[in-house]
Amino acid sequence: MDAIWFVLPWRGGSASGSPLPFFYLHLEKRGGGDILPRQLVIGKETGDFMNREKVEKLVREILSEIGEDTQRDGLKDTPGRVAKALEFLTRGCSKTPNEVVNGAIFESVKDNMVVVRDIEVYSLCEHHMMPFFGRCHVGYISRGKVLGVSKIPRIVDCFAARLQIQERLTNEIARAVKDAIDAEGVGVVMECRHLCMMMRGVEKQNSVMMTSAVLGSFHDDPSTRAEFMTLVKGV
Ligand SMILES: [Zn+2]
Repeated sequence: MDAIWFVLPWRGGSASGSPLPFFYLHLEKRGGGDILPRQLVIGKETGDFMNREKVEKLVREILSEIGEDTQRDGLKDTPGRVAKALEFLTRGCSKTPNEVVNGAIFESVKDNMVVVRDIEVYSLCEHHMMPFFGRCHVGYISRGKVLGVSKIPRIVDCFAARLQIQERLTNEIARAVKDAIDAEGVGVVMECRHLCMMMRGVEKQNSVMMTSAVLGSFHDDPSTRAEFMTLVKGV
């Protein structure tokens, strides 16, 4: 499938003073020669999709509303830092799994199980915009194609660096791995701690939320699933 990038000039100003580069409109050619828009992404680099100046202004208002003096030394540059941090923490919004995999797919033997364990996960819960973090384990059985090993953590980051819930994040990673290499089966297990539960609400500091997603043979075949779970536990 051919991909075509249309580059349109940016009309607005940039908060940081430097001109924002472009709108990118990613289109794909389908079978009959039709061209259908797949997604509209503003810019390709971290932060190009956010109006930093506007976010800084809003953060300043929040600081003021919680009773802070926005002009005191420690807080003067905080709105700018928060805006920059938000750009980074939501950078996954401007990426697709195809882009992060970037063609790093290789021929290999069929039917072997590949497991990458203990991938660090850092994300933001979409209900409170507070961090949740932990580990993720990804396994798949190939039909003859494997992913470059660094690409699995990149797929994890692509979906984690957005506002998320852990259940959806787990599923999106599994689906993206399956689609990238047409895997026979995929399993993802994720264990995370949620600051929205630890610092507020029920204030439980030691609970870990576990989620899993199993597709294809990992779903249909109990012995495949059991082998994956054994590898994940490191037994
Ligand atoms: Zn939350």
